[in-house]
Amino acid sequence: MEKSKVYELPKLPYGYGDLSPYISEEQLRIHHTKHHQAYINGANALIGKLDKARKEGVDLDMKAVSKEMSFHLAGDALHSAFWLNLAPPGKGGGGKPDGAIGVAIVKEYGSFDRFKKEFSQIAVSVEGSGWAALTYCGATDRISVMQIEKHNVNWPPDFPVLMALDVWEHAYYLDYKNERARFVDAFWSIVDWQVVDKWFKHAREYMQA
Ligand code: MN
Repeated sequence: MEKSKVYELPKLPYGYGDLSPYISEEQLRIHHTKHHQAYINGANALIGKLDKARKEGVDLDMKAVSKEMSFHLAGDALHSAFWLNLAPPGKGGGGKPDGAIGVAIVKEYGSFDRFKKEFSQIAVSVEGSGWAALTYCGATDRISVMQIEKHNVNWPPDFPVLMALDVWEHAYYLDYKNERARFVDAFWSIVDWQVVDKWFKHAREYMQA
């Protein structure tokens, strides 16, 4: 039988030290190679467990498998988006959005500053571990910011993520200790708006077709 594909850790489009001082080299390296890798490993382990159980005719706790799979796959998807949403300061990172996403933000929020404030409030107020994510709604052709708990709770299907900010403690603790708000503030200096704009256009083309 042909061997099936497995999940793999994506490479970062910049060096581990390139987002400094907003995210330090050590913080980024551990986040990518240990934490993101753990979700990849978790998803692959579950696939292996399912393959084995089917081969041996053994039953698994399918509710537990489904919950765990959702957690690991959403963790992989959000981290993969997060890395691409960032760019080194002065080399694509930071500044204000222009293009279609810039227009959509002003249309929805009135101003970039208002958007930034709401997104930051959502990110800072996640209870425990989670994410703030800018998403697109095909039904209303509007953008909205969602607060995702863990990796997969409160995230409706069919709302593609255009921009994600990881606010798990593992994302910032080495650099900012318990001061999540300082990390959220730093995020604005390394957002790659060109990527957000590109994903917005793709989502819109696909969902309005
Ligand atoms: Mn993370």
